[in-house]
Amino acid sequence: LDPVEFRRNGHMVIDFLADYYQNIQNYPVKSQAKPGFLLESLPDCAPLHPESIETIINDVQRDIIPGITHWQSPNFFAYFASSGSTASFLGEMLINGFNVVGFNWESSPAATELEMIVMEWLLKLLQLPNFDEFIKFFSFSNGGGGVLHGTTCEAFICTLHAARESILDHIGRENARKLAVYCSDQTHFSFQKSAKIVGINPKNIRQVSTSRSSNFKLSPRLLDEMIKKDIESGLVPVYLCVTVGTTSMAMVDPVGPLSDVSSAYNMWVHVDAAYAGTACICPEFRHFLNGVEGASSFSFNAHKWMLTNQSCCCLWVKDKSALTKSLSTNSEYLKNQATESGQVVDYKDWQIVLSRRFQALKLWMVLRSYGANGLREVIRKHVNLAKDFQMLVSADKRFEIIVPRYFSMVCFRVSPEVIGQCYDTEHEANEFNQKLLQSVNATGCVYMTHSIVGGVYFIRFVVGATLTEDRHVIMAWKLICDQATSMLCTPTP
Ligand code: PLP
Repeated sequence: LDPVEFRRNGHMVIDFLADYYQNIQNYPVKSQAKPGFLLESLPDCAPLHPESIETIINDVQRDIIPGITHWQSPNFFAYFASSGSTASFLGEMLINGFNVVGFNWESSPAATELEMIVMEWLLKLLQLPNFDEFIKFFSFSNGGGGVLHGTTCEAFICTLHAARESILDHIGRENARKLAVYCSDQTHFSFQKSAKIVGINPKNIRQVSTSRSSNFKLSPRLLDEMIKKDIESGLVPVYLCVTVGTTSMAMVDPVGPLSDVSSAYNMWVHVDAAYAGTACICPEFRHFLNGVEGASSFSFNAHKWMLTNQSCCCLWVKDKSALTKSLSTNSEYLKNQATESGQVVDYKDWQIVLSRRFQALKLWMVLRSYGANGLREVIRKHVNLAKDFQMLVSADKRFEIIVPRYFSMVCFRVSPEVIGQCYDTEHEANEFNQKLLQSVNATGCVYMTHSIVGGVYFIRFVVGATLTEDRHVIMAWKLICDQATSMLCTPTP
């Protein structure tokens, strides 16, 4: 890296990005690109000669930006947000600048120790109000500990693997096909994928059905009944995934009662709070984690709502030895005195890959730049904006809210009764709402996504971009109303 070139080109990229953020509202939020648009426009082989940064940045503006969906736009209300911040961005720059590979303590001691520190800081932020109970289990000082993974999927794979290995040590490897894992029909699909990757028989990935009457939460009673039946038919229950903030509707499974059921069968209980976990640093949301002390592991994605750029999943385990026993490697070329002293953590034994980035730096930058209060303020602002949106929806009798709103997501649709006045059957409600969403997104002014639960198609409105203000929420609502009005006035033949 030539420092002179780095300074010059680096400033150009920063200027480019500052302009991008300044003008972000001028781009269609959802990319309007058609499949193959870039494949057709870029050369089919790499250049023979070096090209200047000016040329490359021009091409980013001309070729790449049209194919970008602007996740950081204040009018982005889709999926769950991927919130970033200047602090995290600058942290990423430091990470890239140092470009160390922190697979074990020896390979870059600060990478490991800062990660341990940040994970303990976060642990404390999440403890309110059961501070003492929580720290007792998940802290390094009590046999547990935290580690940064890229994604929740990786956290699932590692904890599933740890649970699988420790049970097979007891019952014998010949019983691997009997292992069963549990979740609900609202659990994120990455859980099923992870279970398959660690070799769970797909038939034994057991989904408990949820229903509207219980707000689509996983029922401890139904779980218990399913486990009992499975044991009778020869299966061995090994792992339960509990979700705090489900992907479709942001519903919350009852963590404590579900942990109690699973503990009776000696199962590993993982609490996946990928999106909603961040909210639990606010005392008023912490109760959603009540009972987490009964779980074996807990994770949330700082890259979803904690202003930390992609990717950053925080995972804590109660018993770190379960992880390290199943994931440890001991190559000669990595042997060193620090590891042998037993005084250090070697994170390569807590995750899938060997090489790892200095992820903790960006999280540390975020935590220091915002402080706990600053982060709480952002969460509360987003939740309040979602509440405002909910009020607007509720005040318009043509619309209905599908499930209670707990965090910063509102699930809504145009109600079938209203659609029925213009259309032949109530059955067409799903189709109408799908068309409504498509037409709103096609304006390029906002971007929202949908889900279908219990046969009902609905629109998800998620606040989470750091640039979103009330005027953006009001604009989005006005657009939805206008599109709905014009569609209701012109029924399809
Ligand atoms: N769990 C929940 C509840 C999610 O909402 C998501 C993604 O939105 C995931 C897991 C998957 O997260 P990742 O992409 O980090 O694997």
